[in-house]
Amino acid sequence: MDHSSNITEVRRQVDEARADGLNIGFVPTMGAFHRGHTSLIEASARICGWTVVSIFVNPTQFAPNEDLDSYPRTLKSDLAKAQASGADLVFAPSAEQMYPSGFKTYVEVEELGHVLCGKSRPGHFRGVVTVVAKLLNIIRPDALFLGRKDAQQAIIIARMVEDLDFTVEVKMRPTVREADGLAMSSRNQYLSVAHRTIAPRLFEALSVSGRLFDHGERNAAKLVDAAASILRAESEIDVEYIEIRKARGLEPAESINESSLLFVAAKLGETRLIDNIILDPEMGSFEA
Ligand code: AMP
Repeated sequence: MDHSSNITEVRRQVDEARADGLNIGFVPTMGAFHRGHTSLIEASARICGWTVVSIFVNPTQFAPNEDLDSYPRTLKSDLAKAQASGADLVFAPSAEQMYPSGFKTYVEVEELGHVLCGKSRPGHFRGVVTVVAKLLNIIRPDALFLGRKDAQQAIIIARMVEDLDFTVEVKMRPTVREADGLAMSSRNQYLSVAHRTIAPRLFEALSVSGRLFDHGERNAAKLVDAAASILRAESEIDVEYIEIRKARGLEPAESINESSLLFVAAKLGETRLIDNIILDPEMGSFEA
């Protein structure tokens, strides 16, 4: 497996693989790999002939008060994990390469990017969508692998791909969890020992609503309340939002008669965690 920080070199290698008749899978990441990331790389390596992984802690998706500087950076071990998971090339550019002086163009997905996490993190999805659009233009993959753990992000990127006529196929993959249900996240390592024991409550709360849904409850307010009451019982959990929205356009759902998601974001101390489950009238509730 090779790695490069150079856009021209990456394009050259991808062109070569394409000329060899291989289809190109792409996994964009911010590094600090855990099994959530490696599951995406493995899926790409299974499905595609050639897999590119990007590692870039994208400054434009962090607000000034957020954790850009302290975000974990573990390139050496990430390269080893990428290789073991079947990646063919890691693209790890610098911020100067991605945003040279004079950079002025941003991509914004209206409405979908302004609810849920977009409300508390203004500009976040503008940064995410812009960097993904750039990466798609650099790599021109056939398939793009995204985790459902960040379901809003995946839905917004799928919207951008459709709206801007990118030809890539978006493949959303299931959330990988710790044994106690906590969704794996690079930010979990910020949790104190005490908060780490409480963190699985998020998924427990979602699962309680999921079971109610599977028993026939379709009233969104009742489903939200069932999850919220579990989180309210834990004084250390500071809930930012808990909402049910439709999967396609992220509109609020009152009664669930189409595929929807129950989303939660909460802070434990300084650490912000997100999670979600799918509530689908035909398929029941399942982990996103
Ligand atoms: P990040 O490095 O946090 O930007 O994540 C890169 C990709 O990995 C995104 O598509 C995430 O949705 C995905 N991802 C992060 N955590 C998980 C997880 N626990 N399970 C599945 N995918 C994940």
